[in-house]
Amino acid sequence: MGLSRRSVLRTGGAAMLTASIARAAVAAPAVVGLRDTGARTLSFNLYNTGESLKATTYWADGKYIPDALAEINYKLRDDRSGEVFPIAPKVLDLMHQIGRNLDTNCHFEVYSGYRSPKTNAMLRRMNSEVASHSLHMEGEAVDITLPGRSLKQLHQAALAMRAGGVGYYPDADFLHVDVGRVRQWVGWG
Ligand SMILES: [Zn+2]
Repeated sequence: MGLSRRSVLRTGGAAMLTASIARAAVAAPAVVGLRDTGARTLSFNLYNTGESLKATTYWADGKYIPDALAEINYKLRDDRSGEVFPIAPKVLDLMHQIGRNLDTNCHFEVYSGYRSPKTNAMLRRMNSEVASHSLHMEGEAVDITLPGRSLKQLHQAALAMRAGGVGYYPDADFLHVDVGRVRQWVGWG
């Protein structure tokens, strides 16, 4: 009885070992595949709060990662009111792709992410260039620079994407990108 139980255990252990080898064999191509398609990672410093997001993979294996998106939404919150709003993943993909196209590790400086209607109205009173219905209010726009690349390079890379609006603010030293209609403008900030 004791002996047969041991042999069952031994057989079970061998089966488990075989299963884990099989899993490893199956997992290997998936890792290669992931490298091929590329996990999407972003990091940034938030100019207004002094916070930062360390390299965060927000998309992998064909899927957005909810926890990562939640952290990004928090970091890109309205820094005046503290309101958190879902940032369109398309905006993150746009940033990621621009960063990749400029051969960087996608580490951005962010000047503005989400803006509540109240904050937007306040900014508009101070600066007539602020749109009355800014896409920042939809979580569809960010104002950024890309440390290590010039604003001009960032501007050209964003225009080349033809993925939405591109506002170039050379005096204020930032670029607005959004995922609205394809359009471009130069502003003073
Ligand atoms: Zn903007």
